[in-house]
Amino acid sequence: MSHNYSLGKYVYLDSPATTQCDPRVTEKMVPFFQELYGNAHSKNHAYGWAAEEAVDIARMHIADFLGVDDREIIFTSGATEANIIAIRGIVDYHRYKAKTPQIHVITSSIEHKSIHACCEQLEEEGVRVTYLPVDKNGLVALDQLANEITNQTVLVSIMAVNNEIGVIQPLQRIGEICAKSGVVFHSDVTQAVGKLKIDFNGSNISLASLSSHKIYGPKGIGALFVKRRPVVRLRSIFPGGGQERGIRGGTLPVPLCVGFGEACRISSQEFPDEFQRISSLSERLAAGILGNIPLAKLNGEKISKVPHISNFAFPYVEGESIIMGLENICLSTGSACSSTSLNPSHVLQAMAVDEYAIQSSVRFGIHRFTTPEDIDIVLEKLPVVIEKLRGMSPLWDMYQEGVDFNEVKWM
Ligand SMILES: *Cc1c(COP(=O)(O)O)cnc(C)c1O
Repeated sequence: MSHNYSLGKYVYLDSPATTQCDPRVTEKMVPFFQELYGNAHSKNHAYGWAAEEAVDIARMHIADFLGVDDREIIFTSGATEANIIAIRGIVDYHRYKAKTPQIHVITSSIEHKSIHACCEQLEEEGVRVTYLPVDKNGLVALDQLANEITNQTVLVSIMAVNNEIGVIQPLQRIGEICAKSGVVFHSDVTQAVGKLKIDFNGSNISLASLSSHKIYGPKGIGALFVKRRPVVRLRSIFPGGGQERGIRGGTLPVPLCVGFGEACRISSQEFPDEFQRISSLSERLAAGILGNIPLAKLNGEKISKVPHISNFAFPYVEGESIIMGLENICLSTGSACSSTSLNPSHVLQAMAVDEYAIQSSVRFGIHRFTTPEDIDIVLEKLPVVIEKLRGMSPLWDMYQEGVDFNEVKWM
């Protein structure tokens, strides 16, 4: 039986969930599925040497792209795994090696699900976790960070760029606060890589998680940056055969490593042009939305946001209904991980966005392969869909009659 998965003509704007593997990346990977199938850890023959060399080059491309040492890159299956290795690794070091009696971790209330799920598990195991609030623009309360750090605090984990609203956190200042108290700083930089330059050395980041499939590489691979100096004390939760500095055992997926490396090499070359192009598409989208759709509003702070991710509220209609109404346009209301549940976005809730505005929010993800025509298609269809939905919305009628929604008790 053969399958034809070709989808026809769609406008894809769900890039924070995943991106297309760049065709140049795919091409680079193919030989490593075929003739060059060696195990990179085999030291005795040409197959092993070829695989090892390819992995070394890939690791170098990733390190160069980040501006770090290649010995600081640990391959993982993705950012979820990198997050868990980092957080559990630090906590477990303190539990089992340092035998710290009470362990405290600080994170933010708008992290990716993979961080929150890991922290919730640790709470069940007796670790104390503080979830720092954010302001209405999505920025983490820094004054509170300094106040929450105690001599029990072993880790601060705060993401660089949020995957739902695109807001950039002030890593430099967070790093300064951590350094002052001697606390390890981990950052999930998955949505920052390829979108902005991060100064790993200047911002005191000891650990950082990234993912290949968010930057036009293959799915199933990512990396954990582990700073070498000063040394980060981490207990491996994946010891295996001692690969990856003993932090992450297991045979390396050579084709995926090669693809990830190539994705980084291409991104570092094309970064300035791509940023310009995506910024102008983002401005075109925002101008069209804010100019033509009454009450439309950007969620999060415009001035400290990556242009790749924009989240708009269209009050009095449901985000899900908008998305369903926009046939052939691929969008999401928030993170892919929570889109199966109908729970309102924890990110928008943390920003204290009004409940009815949260339900009406849609995320737009612009990427390398987005064209001006794609944006024009959205700008042509979106106002029509919203006007139609508002025409059927009792909330919209109430709004026009002057009902104050902050006074309404929601069920
Ligand atoms: C996508 C994403 C992840 C998960 O990455 P995987 O490689 O799919 O595990 C983690 N954090 C953020 C911010 C993300 O956007």
